[in-house]
Amino acid sequence: MMEQTLAILKPDAVRKKFSGAILARYEKEGFRICALKTRLLSKAEAEGFYAVHRERPFFASLVDFMVSGPVILVVLQKENAILAHRQLMGATDPAKAEKETLRALYGESIEYNAVHGSDSAETARFEIPYFFSTVEIVG
Ligand code: ATP
Ligand code: MG
Repeated sequence: MMEQTLAILKPDAVRKKFSGAILARYEKEGFRICALKTRLLSKAEAEGFYAVHRERPFFASLVDFMVSGPVILVVLQKENAILAHRQLMGATDPAKAEKETLRALYGESIEYNAVHGSDSAETARFEIPYFFSTVEIVG
C-alpha cells in the first residue's frame, strides 16, 4: 500500500549538518520527498506534537531539545513507508540501533537520536497535518 509518513530531522542532526546525507539516504532507499520545510518549533508545538509522552519523565527535556534549534520536517512516500522508515531509522537508542540505520550513523544518545518517524498509520494521520496543509504535499 502506498503510504506517507512524517519524518523530522531533529535539531542535533541539523546542527551537525547531517541533513543532506539523511535526505540523500531517503531517496536512495526509494522514498519520494512530497513536502519539506525548515522550522523552529515553538514550545507549544513541540508539546502538542509529543503529547502522548507528556507523563514520561523525559518529556520536559525532550521538548527543550526539540525547540533547541531548527528542525527539517519531511513527508515521505513509498510502499509501506511507515514501517520502512522506522526500519531505516533503527532503535530509539542509537547504541542499540542496527548498523547503517540513521540513528546508528547519526544519533548520539537515546534523546539526541537524529530523526523522528511516525510509528503507525494512525500516528501519521495526526502528524502530517500537524505541520503541513494538503496543498503543501505533492503526493
Ligand atoms: P520518535 O517518536 O522521535 O520517532 P521513537 O518512537 O523511537 O522516537 P519514543 O518512545 O516515541 O521513541 O520517544 C520519543 C523521543 O523521546 C525519542 O526519539 C527520544 O528523542 C526521546 N526519548 C525517548 N526515550 C527517552 C529516554 N529514556 N530519555 C530521554 N529521551 C528519550
Ligand atoms: Mg515515537
